[in-house]
Amino acid sequence: AAPRVVVVGGGFGGVAAARALARGGITVTLIEPATAYATCPSSNAVIAGLRPLSSITFGYDGVRRAGVTVIHDTVTAIDPAARRVRLADGGSLAYDRLVVSTGIGLRFDAIPGYDEAAAATIPHAWKAGAQTALLARQIEAMDDGGLVALTVPALPYRCPPGPYERASLIAHLLKTRKPRSKVIVLDAKDSFSKQPLFQAAWTALYPDHLEWVPLAQGGAVEAVDAAARTLRTGAGVFRPAVINVIPPQTAPALCLAAGLTNASRWCPVDPVTFESTLQPGIHVIGDAAIAGAMPKSAFAAYSQAQVCARGVTDLLEGRTPPDPRLINVCYSLAAPDYGFSIAGVYQPEWDRLVTVPGSDGLSPDDAPPEVRAREAKLGRSWYDGMTRQLFG
Ligand code: FAD
Repeated sequence: AAPRVVVVGGGFGGVAAARALARGGITVTLIEPATAYATCPSSNAVIAGLRPLSSITFGYDGVRRAGVTVIHDTVTAIDPAARRVRLADGGSLAYDRLVVSTGIGLRFDAIPGYDEAAAATIPHAWKAGAQTALLARQIEAMDDGGLVALTVPALPYRCPPGPYERASLIAHLLKTRKPRSKVIVLDAKDSFSKQPLFQAAWTALYPDHLEWVPLAQGGAVEAVDAAARTLRTGAGVFRPAVINVIPPQTAPALCLAAGLTNASRWCPVDPVTFESTLQPGIHVIGDAAIAGAMPKSAFAAYSQAQVCARGVTDLLEGRTPPDPRLINVCYSLAAPDYGFSIAGVYQPEWDRLVTVPGSDGLSPDDAPPEVRAREAKLGRSWYDGMTRQLFG
């Protein structure tokens, strides 16, 4: 019988893997609970009122047209020994190889007072959709003069520059529409991705509208009181008008239960095929995987999906997968017309992925406005091209 591959999760990694496998003639079933997927990339622009949520939300018709069987359901358990996944509707599905791209789990046990119930009024907006809309509404409804507080966890987490892009775009909204207001970033770190580029932009654009409090100055959040709507950090107690807590993260519960995670709570994988080093026959890609030097990004998930699909196909057909090269480029916006990027190429070295020497690049520190505007435009083209490729 033709081998069957099941892909769990219809986000960047899962859709990219399913489409690549189908292109290679493999029979593939994708399991994703949502009938529409809202992308985290560009969700910061939605929060800042720059585009509607509908413009970053995609259905699965294009994925079906590409030859993938899509089932809208949740995988409740994986049985690696029997090579089956169990579904919430009670059924189960057999696989020869399984690809898991389920993104992140949010640690609702990590910050006292910030649990799932608290997230209903104090959004994380670190999974796009209803949470994105909630945060956008709260900022929109805030009176001029209000404080927006955003808490950032220690690494590793999904999209290392994402919190700083979010703070920038919120500051842009405040500066243009609520000029007596301010956004404060309460950080559990002392340094962050693209820091010189962000800080130069903040000095130029938002001297009165954005403040960053690093770990060393008491930035790490210690507790949240959802009823009183207060935050406690080493720097004191804050009573912001709008609070956005980005909690620490983990691989999702499904991965933990299936024995795919190590002590770090993320999934170790072979860097050539993304096959789990703990559960043979199961491949993990995207944010849930430990991908060495690669950041947890949509572009990285996409690159990993191509390599994983090739690896799965080769293994099913009895070939040795080639040594891969993977790419990542992450664009960030400091304002709608002010963008910059970080890029890298990665290759396996022993049991992990490392940066190919000399391949990493960062936008220049002192570029003129035209260059920043061009990068903002390039970022939008990247987004349009990527979402068209996956969902078109
Ligand atoms: P996801 O895209 O989250 O997909 C996981 C899918 O799995 C979800 O659809 C979920 O419903 C499904 N799922 C989960 N559990 C189950 C289950 N048990 N059964 C079935 N399905 C399940 N990256 C970039 O490259 N560029 C950017 O500009 C960028 N901006 C970002 C901005 C923000 C604010 C954030 C938060 C992230 C950003 N990212 C960006 C990162 C990017 O969103 C993630 O890295 C990417 O989505 C990871 O893909 P994934 O496939 O691992 O997970």
